[in-house]
Amino acid sequence: MNKLILVKYASEIFLKGLNRNKFEKKLRDNIAAKLNGLNFEIILDQGRYFIKVDELDEAVDKIKKVFGIAEVCVVTKVDRDLDIIKEEALNKINATSYKTFKVITNRANKSFPSNSMDTSRAVGAYILHNSSDELTVDVKTPECKVHIEIRENAYVWTDKDKIKAVGGLPYGINGSTMLMLSGGIDSPVAGYLMARRGVALNCVYYHSHPYTSEQAKDKVKDLAKILAGYTEEVNLYIVSFTEIQMSIIEKCKEDELTIIMRRFMMRIACGLAEKLHIDSVATGESIGQVASQTMDGLIVSTECSDRPVFRPLISMDKEDIIEIARKIGTFETSILPFEDCCTIFVPKHPKTKPKVEPIKKEESKLDVEALVQVAINTAEFVKLK
Ligand code: ATP
Ligand code: MG
Repeated sequence: MNKLILVKYASEIFLKGLNRNKFEKKLRDNIAAKLNGLNFEIILDQGRYFIKVDELDEAVDKIKKVFGIAEVCVVTKVDRDLDIIKEEALNKINATSYKTFKVITNRANKSFPSNSMDTSRAVGAYILHNSSDELTVDVKTPECKVHIEIRENAYVWTDKDKIKAVGGLPYGINGSTMLMLSGGIDSPVAGYLMARRGVALNCVYYHSHPYTSEQAKDKVKDLAKILAGYTEEVNLYIVSFTEIQMSIIEKCKEDELTIIMRRFMMRIACGLAEKLHIDSVATGESIGQVASQTMDGLIVSTECSDRPVFRPLISMDKEDIIEIARKIGTFETSILPFEDCCTIFVPKHPKTKPKVEPIKKEESKLDVEALVQVAINTAEFVKLK
């Protein structure tokens, strides 16, 4: 088969200087992992990856979800011969209904006799001569560009063969995070955004059996699985949170329940991260979204952390978050109506301006360290692919 997939990396990878090799290798490994099971070969031709694969459509669908790739193009490989290139370019533009076009040539192989400009001109003239009168050249704003790359072989494609990919940086190149993943809309988006910048994802979910149902837990697993579609696999740690919540409810002031609960979540996420050698913690919080996400709330819940806490949604409106959730395919699962542990024990008037010292005083009524250790040691582990 002479159809191949051309992978164009995100432009940032080109800016990585000496690290570029490391990025390219990681990207290649990630593509290979994603195509596992298909019959494929990755060919590096002067700084570009071409992928030869029997299952073309399936491969395109998978590769466009690989972080670090800006665009995938389905290209036709032909001999490095001007007449053959012209014929293929004509076939390609004739397969579209565009009315204006422009030919763009990139001659990476300088032994090809005709330079880029001359090749574009010759191919453009050939197309004009051999197609309907309705098709014209527009060099400024063409409806369709015909792309020609001359390398060891020549490759031809049009804008119609281009598919936008997810962008970002190769997954796993930028350390790791422990994402607090609830069943809501926000946290899966936060996880996606971290992973898209190359950060390896691990997730922790706080489950309050029997107050939160098995369906709520399954929903979180489903969300982790959707994220694994981008990352290959995701480790999920399910922490039993009931005893902690019950202790807080029994001993602490009602209006401080939420913030104390959130501090426990933070401590457990940090503790798990330490145990598993994970660099950081991430949440789906956005400033001002709810009472516990006021500036004071975020300060107090961060105070008990001993790792960097990343909140990639911090400045985003809910509408923007929903848009990403729809795009990445988590929204429909997130809106399934299964209760979360935070929504079950909500105080009537949660503190919106908590301060560290009074909260610590309240917490001193609990054996914080023991509760956290039990939660960490009894966490259930699931790997989602
Ligand atoms: P989401 O933010 O996922 O849509 P939410 O807005 O209902 O859910 P909040 O109660 O606002 O969640 O919690 C803020 C953040 O705390 C979440 O984005 C998530 O990172 C974390 N979180 C909340 N509940 C849980 C839980 N049960 N398990 C793990 N993390 C949680
Ligand atoms: Mg939220």
